[in-house]
Amino acid sequence: MMMQLDMNSPEFKAELEKTRKFTDKVCESQGWVYSANEDVNEGVILGLARHKALYGKRFCPCFMVEEDPAKPGKFKSTDDRICPCKPAIEKEIPENGICHCQIFCTPEYKENQLKEIEAKEKAKAELENVEKSEAVQ
Ligand code: SF4
Repeated sequence: MMMQLDMNSPEFKAELEKTRKFTDKVCESQGWVYSANEDVNEGVILGLARHKALYGKRFCPCFMVEEDPAKPGKFKSTDDRICPCKPAIEKEIPENGICHCQIFCTPEYKENQLKEIEAKEKAKAELENVEKSEAVQ
């Protein structure tokens, strides 16, 4: 069943704000941090808010949600992933450092992400400098 959602409505905007507070609390309570990829984080928060508005629960945005045949009018997601989901708590974050949706991670994981971003930016700047000096010759 396809449901309509007006993402510009005040109701949805309020839900988005609530979801931001929710993900802040998830970080606090689990000892996680947001990943360094802010675009991904924004997309996941938007997806969680969307699922809450459409289905009444913050089902994981990276997994399918469908009507629950056992409970008419209710929904369920693949793997029963409701945020913060069991696979992230029990397996993904302890083993990989980051959850499937790539929003929550350990502080160590984020530190490495930031180091990688810094190294890439440095390499890019060095390449630009080489290109500039070659253009002058
Ligand atoms: S993978 Fe789990 S913890 Fe990560 S956003 Fe999806 S539901 Fe939340």
